Amino acid sequence: MIEIQDITVTYSQNEHASFEALHHIRLTVPQGTVCAVLGPSGCGKSTLIKTVAGLLHPTEGSVTMDGAPLDPHRATIGFMPQNYGLLPWRTAIENVLLGPRIRKQDVQAAKQRAGELFTRLGIAGLEDRFPKELSGGQQQRVALARAFLLAPDLLLMDEPFSALDAITREEMQDVFLTLWREAQTTTLLVTHYVEEALYLGRTIVLMRAGGTIAETIDNLLFGKEDQRGSQAFFASAQKLREKIRAMKVVS
Ligand code: ADP
Ligand code: MG
Repeated sequence: MIEIQDITVTYSQNEHASFEALHHIRLTVPQGTVCAVLGPSGCGKSTLIKTVAGLLHPTEGSVTMDGAPLDPHRATIGFMPQNYGLLPWRTAIENVLLGPRIRKQDVQAAKQRAGELFTRLGIAGLEDRFPKELSGGQQQRVALARAFLLAPDLLLMDEPFSALDAITREEMQDVFLTLWREAQTTTLLVTHYVEEALYLGRTIVLMRAGGTIAETIDNLLFGKEDQRGSQAFFASAQKLREKIRAMKVVS
């Protein structure tokens, strides 16, 4: 279980000016669930996910895993930044094998598992291409292969599907869910798409401008993938949008 305990993050711009991007954020991500953080651009989603990843230090508060401070050197954290985070000078397969290499794991075994993942993700044959030789959707698949090969204790995804066209995005959400269902990785995912939060989040955390949480919602549609085109799904999306409008979470 991941607990974000009363986190405040302040960026100092210069000696005289600072900017508070997150204001007393409290949030729990139970073991084996996906928590979707939904909020408008600039509300602090990336700041939150970078803080959980240990890339930023909070001014106040802490992040714990199962009661102990979350230490990126001890826990395995998979972080998928918005631009997929692939190294441009390495091939697809080398990007995926980077984790096992750094961890000094059995690279041959990892290579075999990576091969299986490439096949399942529909990118078999693209192993030796460089990121710039891949489409956005293909790069995203490579990033997912890398994340799931790592089998992290915690998976952090920053707007993972935002840069994709609508059809590819829905496809990739399904690919993600298929892999996720097998591994049940504890996941914190941030998005600005209402439908994405509804489709992927067991809980949905609504953030608003100013870096605060407006509401945490138990998503009853989670795990009912067959309902994406249903009336219930559209009704829930509509309700969520109204809620957001009423709270002025999205302008
Ligand atoms: P989101 O991911 O929701 O779009 P961010 O976490 O990137 O939001 O940014 C939250 C707020 O913090 C924004 O107002 C942004 O301008 C500000 N911000 C982000 N990074 C920095 C930084 N390094 N220095 C100062 N302000 C920053
Ligand atoms: Mg962001």
